[in-house]
Amino acid sequence: MQKENQPIIEVRNVSKTFGEKMALDHVNLSVRKGEFVTILGPSGCGKTTLLRLIAGFQTTSEGEIRISGKEITQTPPHLRPVNTVFQKYALFPHLNVFDNIAFGLKLKKMPKAVIEKKVKVALKMVGMTDYEYRDVNSLSGGQQQRVAIARAIVNEPEVLLLDEPLAALDLKMRKDMQMELKEMHRRLGITFVYVTHDQEEALTLSDTIVVMSEGKIQQIGGPTDIYNEPVNSFVADFIGESNILNGIMLKDELVRFCGRDFECVDKGFGELAPVDVVIRPEDLYIFPVSDAAQLRGVVQSCIFKGVHYEMAVAVDDYEIIVQDYHAFEAGTEVGLLIKPFDIHIMKKERTCNTFEGSMKDETHVEFLGCEFECKPVDMSDSSKDWQNVTVEVDFDKVVLHDNEEDGTLTGEVKFILYKGNHYHLTVFSDWDEDVFVDTNDVWDDGDRVGISIPADAIRIIC
Ligand code: ATP
Repeated sequence: MQKENQPIIEVRNVSKTFGEKMALDHVNLSVRKGEFVTILGPSGCGKTTLLRLIAGFQTTSEGEIRISGKEITQTPPHLRPVNTVFQKYALFPHLNVFDNIAFGLKLKKMPKAVIEKKVKVALKMVGMTDYEYRDVNSLSGGQQQRVAIARAIVNEPEVLLLDEPLAALDLKMRKDMQMELKEMHRRLGITFVYVTHDQEEALTLSDTIVVMSEGKIQQIGGPTDIYNEPVNSFVADFIGESNILNGIMLKDELVRFCGRDFECVDKGFGELAPVDVVIRPEDLYIFPVSDAAQLRGVVQSCIFKGVHYEMAVAVDDYEIIVQDYHAFEAGTEVGLLIKPFDIHIMKKERTCNTFEGSMKDETHVEFLGCEFECKPVDMSDSSKDWQNVTVEVDFDKVVLHDNEEDGTLTGEVKFILYKGNHYHLTVFSDWDEDVFVDTNDVWDDGDRVGISIPADAIRIIC
């Protein structure tokens, strides 16, 4: 029995592994009845796996899932009060629209008159009245997806799960269907859990967005919260366009970046705390250079984007992206201004690489599964545990090589963040640990690299 205010779906501490791969890492999520929740993230982040666990097509490795207060972790899909709509419509090609939608009801041996009524209601709901005797092969992609949705909602599920249902449609059709889905959600009044990698779709459709990366939930919030107050640089980069810069919080409401101090509205970071500063391109004011300018720079490029112009402005060695309705041609000297409210400050998740290591001798330390040379360490204090040391390496000291064999170990570039004057890379090492790298070199997502760390870049803490 569901209690008042109890979430309809509760995902509690759920993990899912495929062999060595951890597709979901201790995920917690709670969905309110009637909510439109979107699970958003890049390819491979685990969003489909999470949906399939809720649907019951896969079982959790750890944790539990409840629907309407009932533990359903081991319940087979057809006994859960959910229905799923897939990206591929998966309609039966030899059945017409009516028979496709009626299929499940016939299996349940419902009376003919009831089936007829339910199918008609479902068709009306998806705006396909009068299509019941059409051959499904004669329908457009959008119409086929509507039939697939009708087939799911005819069972009157409490929750509709949608796995990238619009991904196969062209842009125009996708936009139309987004509006229809939102309207359908309102009319049906049931809970929608929607999976997409398209941030604009998520912002348009959802009451709540769940941003995922690498099997973990990064942020849960409404579209405006996620857009305006991203909790970390991953979310800021993934949702919309951003300038993400390294900064130092000098004190409450005062931050330093791009070589000067700015008033902001954030507090509580302490003094001289390293932070990420996020500024949306549309929040920067750009004008012919004058005394009002907080930053001065020269326009490097100016591209018309349909509604606004997007300009790259060189400010010393930083590149700042600005969007404005007025164009400033390349070569123009401009001033930039940012209001305190538009400067978003985020605590840095880390300020350097930290690894667990063990000393081999005074000039060699093992970490990341390899032995590295380090500066001589005085190991004379035998009360210390030299087999369990912390190794710190600054991001900009890690060296990446095109040729994997040139590195002490190898890895794959996974995530690239442009920080205005350098790239911050996450390299997933073949030792299964992330190595973070600051570099001016241009790498692509998925590049295989050799990784080396010079001896004088290694700090040992015991
Ligand atoms: P996409 O949008 O590309 O489908 P996703 O965010 O939905 O990505 P998942 O399909 O959930 O991601 O996959 C998460 C991770 O788990 C990926 O690294 C994927 O390769 C892996 N994975 C998913 N299903 C399986 C499986 N059946 N066997 C092995 N690995 C799997």
